[in-house]
Amino acid sequence: MATVSFKCKNCGGELLFDPDSQKFHCEYCDSYFTREELGEEPESKTEDPAPRAETVQPEEEFNEGEVVEYTCPSCGAQVIAEASTAATWCYYCHNPVVLSSRLSNKLKPNKVIPFVLDKEQAENAFEQWKKKKWFLKPGFSREARLEKMSGVYYPYWRINCRTQGRISGNAEKIRTWRTGNTEYKETKKYQFVRQGQVELRDITFTAMNRADIDLTQGVYPFDYTKAQDFSMAYLSGFLAERRMTETGDVRPRAQEKIQGYTREKLEDTVKGYNHFSVRDSNCQMMEEHWEYVMLPAWVMTYQYNGETYYYAVNGQTGKTCGRLPLSKARLAALFGVVTAVAFGVFSLIGGLLL
Ligand SMILES: [Zn+2]
Ligand SMILES: [Zn+2]
Repeated sequence: MATVSFKCKNCGGELLFDPDSQKFHCEYCDSYFTREELGEEPESKTEDPAPRAETVQPEEEFNEGEVVEYTCPSCGAQVIAEASTAATWCYYCHNPVVLSSRLSNKLKPNKVIPFVLDKEQAENAFEQWKKKKWFLKPGFSREARLEKMSGVYYPYWRINCRTQGRISGNAEKIRTWRTGNTEYKETKKYQFVRQGQVELRDITFTAMNRADIDLTQGVYPFDYTKAQDFSMAYLSGFLAERRMTETGDVRPRAQEKIQGYTREKLEDTVKGYNHFSVRDSNCQMMEEHWEYVMLPAWVMTYQYNGETYYYAVNGQTGKTCGRLPLSKARLAALFGVVTAVAFGVFSLIGGLLL
């Protein structure tokens, strides 16, 4: 398993990506380097006599649950990593290590969005979120204890595409009026057709096939205008997962989503009727462009009442997603309020109709 680590040009210390300065930082001599100053991606150290074997037999790469051994480039220890790990910390010397052969050739990501939030900012986001969720169990904000926290690059598929769509159906315009004691109602019936090309950008799907997928989808969306061409250096100092799916695994679900979006866009143009229903719809893919991207998230676990919960913060925007210990009493109070408001609105409408 080929590995790589990024060394300071001044002192040979390990370089870590620093979200505040968007540069690479040496903690030993406090130097900062830009991506350009790092130069070309360093040669991977490899103990594998046939490092390209992986790309020749990519199917083997996707065996889940399999663990691999690699040599730490800093201390030389033999370390075990999960099959999906792409960047991690050495268990023995705690230096960052990037498993370069899992990010090279066919498995090289196209883009990366570097971390913008640092650890402290992510922790603050968690504290703010605890306070805002008033429907959590009483005492949650005080008692929930942050347990573990890691910055992780997760693998995603990003799709940009153009579709040709067509919808048709029936619509109605209704007019009512009153003269004396008589109420009149006029219904005009229409058939409508809408067709056109729809541009869809930045549709994002996870490229993992594990259970923590929910959480990684809860932190969407990302701002792709800040995406950089992929470099392994960005991963230094973070954990990273590599992709475990191919485009073919994701395409059926992606097409379903894309058809849905196309239909929605066309439906948005059906205006001026009281109601309409779509009878037929179809959608053809004109162009599609897939990219393998690495996106940043801070993932935390916290303890509350003897149970462990997960929480994630978008490492670029600070958007949060958590699994909450909900209090039934407080939720009931929330629904009580909502029901009362809705009831009020309905009776008002009822009053107008009478
Ligand atoms: Zn240094
Ligand atoms: Zn080590």
